[in-house]
Amino acid sequence: MKKALFLDRDGVINIDHGYVSCPEEFEFVPGILDFIRTMQKKGYLPIVVTNQSGIGRGYYTAEDFERLTEYMLERMRKAGIVIDRTQVFHCPHAPEEKCNCRKPAPGMLLEAIDRFEIDPGESIMIGDKTSDIEAADAAGVRHKVQIEKNRPLDHDKIHQIIRREKHS
Ligand SMILES: [Mg+2]
Ligand SMILES: [Zn+2]
Repeated sequence: MKKALFLDRDGVINIDHGYVSCPEEFEFVPGILDFIRTMQKKGYLPIVVTNQSGIGRGYYTAEDFERLTEYMLERMRKAGIVIDRTQVFHCPHAPEEKCNCRKPAPGMLLEAIDRFEIDPGESIMIGDKTSDIEAADAAGVRHKVQIEKNRPLDHDKIHQIIRREKHS
């Protein structure tokens, strides 16, 4: 069983400008690539779980999303992270479609857990919204860290949270 580092995208990996849909608007949050690479060295499989209702709302297309994802993954790989398209889960639906993948529903996390044989009890979710934390909770992910949107991660603080939860 693997342990995963689940990451929300907008506001955690990149600056959330609202419905980011092209590389020109995609700005990595400072330090995030180092953080992911460090966690991967510690044995965590990086998994991106992102609500992309901009597709369902018609603000951008599925192709736009795929192009942007390829750009994001390429930048990650250049930073030494081992990751491919299968590690990115997205919900393309609008809220009124009432799907089971749009966070706070746990669909994307459950699919990843199943596909990669992840142990949620050893895994971490980092998100900037309550819905990220709720989705992780519903999927049984043990460690959940809600950060402030668009702000660099405090690595020490995250490790402290994980350590504290392990011992409680
Ligand atoms: Mg977010
Ligand atoms: Zn969905």
